Amino acid sequence: MKTFCGRANPTTGAMEWLEEDENYDYHQEIARSRYADMLHDKDRNTKYYQGIRAAVSRVKERGEKAIVLDIGTGTGLLSMMAASAGADFCYAIEVFKPMANAAVKIVEKNGFRDKIKVINKHSTEVTVGPDGDMQCRANILVTELFDTELIGEGALPTYEHAHKYLVQEGCEAVPHRATVYVQLVESKRMWSWSKLFPVHVEAEDGEKIIVSPSEMENCPGVPSVCDIQLNQMPSSDFTVLSDVVTMFSVDFSKPVRSAPTYYRVQLEPVKSGKAQIVLSWWDIDMDPSGMINCTMAPYWVKPTAAFQWRDHWMQCVYFLPNEEPVLQGEKVYLTACRDEYSVWYKLQKDRGEEEKKSDVRVETPVCRCQAHLLWNRPRFGQLNDQNRTRQYIKSLMKVLKTDSVCLCISDGSLLPVLAHYLGAKQVQYFFLFFFLSNHLEDKIKIIEARPELLTSSHLEDKKISVLVGEPFFTTSLLPWHNLYFWYARTAVTSHLTSNVTVLPQSASLHMMIVEFQDLWRIRSPCGTCEGFDVRTMDDMIKNSLNFRESKEAEPHPLWEYPCKSLSDPQEVLTFDFRKTVPQHCLSTEGSIKLLRKGKSHGAVLWMEYHLATDISISTGLMQISNEKGNCEWNPHCKQAVYFFSSVIESETLSDLPSAVTYAINFDTKTGDIAMDFKL
Ligand code: SAH
Repeated sequence: MKTFCGRANPTTGAMEWLEEDENYDYHQEIARSRYADMLHDKDRNTKYYQGIRAAVSRVKERGEKAIVLDIGTGTGLLSMMAASAGADFCYAIEVFKPMANAAVKIVEKNGFRDKIKVINKHSTEVTVGPDGDMQCRANILVTELFDTELIGEGALPTYEHAHKYLVQEGCEAVPHRATVYVQLVESKRMWSWSKLFPVHVEAEDGEKIIVSPSEMENCPGVPSVCDIQLNQMPSSDFTVLSDVVTMFSVDFSKPVRSAPTYYRVQLEPVKSGKAQIVLSWWDIDMDPSGMINCTMAPYWVKPTAAFQWRDHWMQCVYFLPNEEPVLQGEKVYLTACRDEYSVWYKLQKDRGEEEKKSDVRVETPVCRCQAHLLWNRPRFGQLNDQNRTRQYIKSLMKVLKTDSVCLCISDGSLLPVLAHYLGAKQVQYFFLFFFLSNHLEDKIKIIEARPELLTSSHLEDKKISVLVGEPFFTTSLLPWHNLYFWYARTAVTSHLTSNVTVLPQSASLHMMIVEFQDLWRIRSPCGTCEGFDVRTMDDMIKNSLNFRESKEAEPHPLWEYPCKSLSDPQEVLTFDFRKTVPQHCLSTEGSIKLLRKGKSHGAVLWMEYHLATDISISTGLMQISNEKGNCEWNPHCKQAVYFFSSVIESETLSDLPSAVTYAINFDTKTGDIAMDFKL
């Protein structure tokens, strides 16, 4: 069956109706899922297996039959572990139909058909009884329903329900408990992901400072978790203000309550500073004794020998509503509030009135300043990047004249404010702009119209002499989606003066061949996992990745995923914003020389914007930092990664294919970039 889905094309802005296969969504889900990453997580898998074996033994020692409930079975892995460990029967629950189907196949292939019943339901729909899905309640509860924040995938309500209806009292649980840890830090870098720092503008008539509105000062932001590969954050980027402390833990073998609540700990700062950020991670004990422990602790907490790279579980960064000065040795109170799915933090100097837990109202944070709704964390970081701002200021100073009529096309941008301070007579601004606390309401006009619907009355019959854009659009996923600026520029052509200045004047697409330290794992087949054949899953992922006719590049923030360059960076396409978008396709072919030995996992692509003569900014590679080829990436942007379907490995340069050939085509009608590589 085919269905029609409407969406705005992220590059061209055109509304399009795509005929989509009914399977489109689930292929997307599988292709982008973390199943492969979980199956590669050796540390997780071996510890689950140990914990499951121990739980089955404990039940058997009591002379009971081991009946397992595995909620969220995925590939069926944990049920197969239980069956191999001697469990008498397993109920494997999986809500996602394609996965449940895969589990049936995998269970069958591994010879567990008689021991494992796969049930394609949400666990809360499962029935128990002679005619039910389960004959009786289970005495071993096995799950892996955790995300980086532990509870974000709904583990708490699922456990709450399971204890009420699906398992016996006193059941064994694997994992047995989870513990959430926190550490208070000061970090200008991370704080810049949540607050707008003052922007200094050296204008002709003196220095101007753009300040954030006062509502932002104490704004608690949005409750969505900020999960990152904290192991990529150098210790020079933050100052530890407290020891690591246990915030709360959950015993999964006992009834679990999911209702909103809070936990409070007393902290004694080990250093004076500004408390801004709470770093957090968790560990799970697979058995009651705590001997089988799987931890997400970052590098400065845990011995490197215990290190396991994983992408499905990372670490959390929580932003305090406002920064709080703390003094070494002077106690403070940190409160973690949670609802069923998320956690947030508050810091208090004194304990306040002793509140009774039962009457505490835990209010979910709501952004009051609007900025956190408009800008995500990397965008905050980008706007606070002073070096980047300086480049824009320098270029604006080159192009703006006192009588300039300026139109800015970008989402949630500060460029109109900069342009105003730098002397533009009038600034027109497209799209979202949330606050004008700098009292520029009469200087900057916001036009809420799509570019193709712009009329001369919007512009008060003026012609635009300077057209600017960062370009940045919230709808962009891949680097080249911001080429929407070019389409918008084309749409407003009739409103531009004949000698209009466009900033950026052009953009270019760049590419480099890389070897990833770890990221390759998310796209590599697993084969067997702990001795179980999971090739069905590999095939399913491969099939979903190839579901679209042309393979696609994927966005990844590469500062979190180290790689080394195997080739020089190469410019592959250019886009001239001074002209309108051409009718014909832009395509290029060539080869890129491999200079270092290593595994060619894929190509990384990014955009560079040429703001004015000699002023460019890169949204990708910042530099190659040493002769080993280690790369430094723009920390506020995602780059495009095109994984090669076969990886070439070379021990020496002489057995390298000396080059990778490529063909890249930018279809100006659809805004799509198609790529093909040959190794
Ligand atoms: N157990 C597997 C897969 C874990 S991923 C492994 O450890 O490798 C978690 C899976 O749980 C996902 O496939 C998701 O669809 C499923 N899931 C989450 N909550 C569920 C619930 N309440 N009932 C049934 N399935 C659930």
